[in-house]
Amino acid sequence: MRGKGIILGMALSVLLAMQSFAATEIGLNLNWKYAGNAKINTGKAILYTSDSKNPKKITIAVNAGHGTKGGEKVRTLCHPDGTRKVTGGTNAAGITTALAVSSGMTFKDGTKEATVTLQMGHILAKKLLNAGYDVLLIRSEEDVQLDNVARTVLANNKADAHIALHWDSTEKDKGAFFMSVPNSLKKMEPVASHWESHEKLGESLISGLRGKGVKIFSKGRMDMDLTQTSYSTIPSVDIELGDKISDHSEKQLNLLGDALVDGVNKYYGFTS
Ligand SMILES: [Zn+2]
Repeated sequence: MRGKGIILGMALSVLLAMQSFAATEIGLNLNWKYAGNAKINTGKAILYTSDSKNPKKITIAVNAGHGTKGGEKVRTLCHPDGTRKVTGGTNAAGITTALAVSSGMTFKDGTKEATVTLQMGHILAKKLLNAGYDVLLIRSEEDVQLDNVARTVLANNKADAHIALHWDSTEKDKGAFFMSVPNSLKKMEPVASHWESHEKLGESLISGLRGKGVKIFSKGRMDMDLTQTSYSTIPSVDIELGDKISDHSEKQLNLLGDALVDGVNKYYGFTS
């Protein structure tokens, strides 16, 4: 049986291991582009600087999906220009506002998705730091008061690429995929200027996962109209690492973390 305390203990041990890296708290600057569209904006992200001998001088935003108390009581504009959402997901197509942050799903074994994304976030952050990347950890504890717009704007301004970690709500163990930008959104800014970089990052992450033997869903992608990619001005991907019945043991999260670092290296042209 997997106790909640064990999982939290594990996250804590990774967190303590990260204390050797220089850390700075970063809040949302309301003068940043689109920051005015954020409704939950008082939380802080943590910027960790790699102590690697060969720092890459590249900052990766690691966004542990969900985990914002009150995130479902507030709505934010799906698109910066107020246009309607083109695909359904947690929020239906045709609407102009979405849940500021949804609560996420619960795994079949009772574990909350938000708990696993947090654990994955710490594991990935540490592996990226060890590989020479700096990391903007957008959620470092159970609750961060930053909605999806705020998280994206923080990443836009303080990172070079943005990876949001999620597990999907199906019960098929169908495999990992990234959420690609639907064709009908590719003319809307800032998507028009950036969707190709989202695509390249998504493909690179899937290739990294495939290389480590992680099961991949279909072609490794699914079109979805997300707040994240609608506001992103840097390469930005929502990666779904499995679903409600997928293995989320520490061993598996470590494998996924190694695979994602491979994917980031691929994106930037580093041989891992
Ligand atoms: Zn999710």
